[in-house]
Amino acid sequence: MEYTRTKNKNRLLVNPKRWGVSENTYGAAPKYYYDVVYSCLDCRKEVIWSAEEQKYWYEELGKNTKSKAVRCQICRCHIQAIKEEQKRHMAQLANRVKDK
Ligand SMILES: [Zn+2]
Repeated sequence: MEYTRTKNKNRLLVNPKRWGVSENTYGAAPKYYYDVVYSCLDCRKEVIWSAEEQKYWYEELGKNTKSKAVRCQICRCHIQAIKEEQKRHMAQLANRVKDK
């Protein structure tokens, strides 16, 4: 997966206290988030992963610092929907077993 910096100058300061919190990789944080472009793993569409989204990803969601966005919003929603459907299916199966 390739992430290329966009031409715009948008950038956000990294909060090193929040970055890598789950892995204790303090000090290794980059200084800024920059907007990057990548192609979605599923539909191959070019997507911009904005500095704001990266900040949210690493600092609010506390994602692993090695993890990156790989899918566009639409494909992400699609996967989410499949997971929900599977969960519902598993719950139904569990209930059926209980009934016996
Ligand atoms: Zn996609």
